[in-house]
Amino acid sequence: MALDSTPATKPAARPRKARGEGQWALGHREPLNPNERIKKDDNPLNVRARIENIYAHTGFAGIDPQDLRGRFRWWGLYTQRKAGIDGGRTAVLEPHELEDEYFMLRVRIDGGTLDLAQLRTIAEISAEFGRDSADITDRQNIQLHWIRIEDMPEIWRRLEAVGLQTTEACGDCPRVVLGSPVAGVSPAEVVDPTWAIDEILRRYIGDPRYSNLPRKFKTSISWLADTPHEVNDIALLGVVHPVHGPGFDLWVGGGLSTNPRLAERLGVWVPLEEIPDVWEGIVGIFRDYGYRRLRNRARLKFLLADWGVEKFREVLEKEYLGRALLDGPAPELPAKPIDHIGVHKQRDGRNYVGAAPVVGRSSGTQLGRLADLVAAHGSDRVRLTPYQKLLVLDIADDQVEPLVQGLRGIGLEARPSAWRRGTMACTGIEYCKLAIVETKARGEELVARMEERLREFDADISIHINGCPNACARTQVADIGLKGMLVMNQHGEQVEGFQVHLGGALGMAQGQTAGFGRKLRGLKATAEELPGYVERVARHYLAGRTDGE
Ligand code: SF4
Repeated sequence: MALDSTPATKPAARPRKARGEGQWALGHREPLNPNERIKKDDNPLNVRARIENIYAHTGFAGIDPQDLRGRFRWWGLYTQRKAGIDGGRTAVLEPHELEDEYFMLRVRIDGGTLDLAQLRTIAEISAEFGRDSADITDRQNIQLHWIRIEDMPEIWRRLEAVGLQTTEACGDCPRVVLGSPVAGVSPAEVVDPTWAIDEILRRYIGDPRYSNLPRKFKTSISWLADTPHEVNDIALLGVVHPVHGPGFDLWVGGGLSTNPRLAERLGVWVPLEEIPDVWEGIVGIFRDYGYRRLRNRARLKFLLADWGVEKFREVLEKEYLGRALLDGPAPELPAKPIDHIGVHKQRDGRNYVGAAPVVGRSSGTQLGRLADLVAAHGSDRVRLTPYQKLLVLDIADDQVEPLVQGLRGIGLEARPSAWRRGTMACTGIEYCKLAIVETKARGEELVARMEERLREFDADISIHINGCPNACARTQVADIGLKGMLVMNQHGEQVEGFQVHLGGALGMAQGQTAGFGRKLRGLKATAEELPGYVERVARHYLAGRTDGE
């Protein structure tokens, strides 16, 4: 008999009702936080009409704060950080004190594909409305700055005239779809999945059924492992099934930020024509079962962590697809990330040329010159990469060298140093309201300093500079990942600096596996010390590396 010290007179405790996570499928339809309230009160897609009909005429002062800081993001618009506010004040000021009356505007470029009319249009908009700003992001978008609300109707008119959009470029919705920058041209590609990307855009982007998700939803669809597929909510990667032939391996639940988690394979094989339906099923699971109570637990990765892949697959098959999926093999992963920099053969015998700006920073002027150069060398196709770089496709053999020289002349390097090739930086304090430190200018300075001190460095190295813990430039999956924070310098003063994560990786095979860099607790470098620190790590690596490493 079990001993029980509970006095017989005390009533049995009532089982405590489990606290809901705000999952719609379990009946929690009432908003549990202000973000959910904003989405419920009015579908954020509706804000476009208000921008065109009201705010473009009233100007910044007339914008409803719930639209300004909430729904605008569904159309790619974020308020820009006011100049001159240091990172120490980021966490203490109210949003309205941090923001400027200008906007960052994200143009979604799904699969990174641009034709010359599109490239020229972005260049013109940048020059005319964005003070010549244009950053290539690590999600194959182009981000403009200094945009005024008054100019948005004209900007949309121009973008949409050439088939570009800002619809759901930000916000709690399906964002830009990453794709291989060499889709359709690579000799190594077995199936070009561009059709599936286009079909997802056509069917579901801007669709109110999927515009109120618990949080952002990131997708990658590529035959080659040349996108960072493991950090997406859903990723499809090419694989050949021994019986059914070429198709795609499905991964779910990846994401970085402050609780990083790599995506996991569901173990299923998806043929090209079924990708849009499977994608819709997974977005449906996220919409209905995703956690909506706490913003920092609202990504799909938290649901997957609680359910596990078996339950996730079962719910997908039974409740959303109404059929079983086929088991599939794991894809082969490359020995190291594929960034496509340099000159490479296409399957039609022509060439593509991958070139590097520095930390993704470009300008309307540079993009306009790039369009001229691309046309002059017989091409009309450019691709952006998820490493903040770009490719020019369809170059004949005799045009390769002239193009490489031409690109160099406009600040794009097809034979970059390891430093320029491997360094990325997020938006940082120049424009981002969440930032604690400067990133782009620091990245440019770091690349210049390292090229000066260690130009001969011959190994691949990735350095990802982030302005805060949100890890937009993938802090945890770089050789040297840098998380912006305030640190003490040698004089005991608080200055901009970084926490260092060492040894992260993605998409690896041959003995290495994808994983997060080790956060070195004690290791923080002031921004000033950073070049010296990176140089020491690099020299240490060179001195200690084994043959062939
Ligand atoms: Fe802004 Fe932080 Fe993202 Fe950088 S990592 S863009 S600072 S939110």
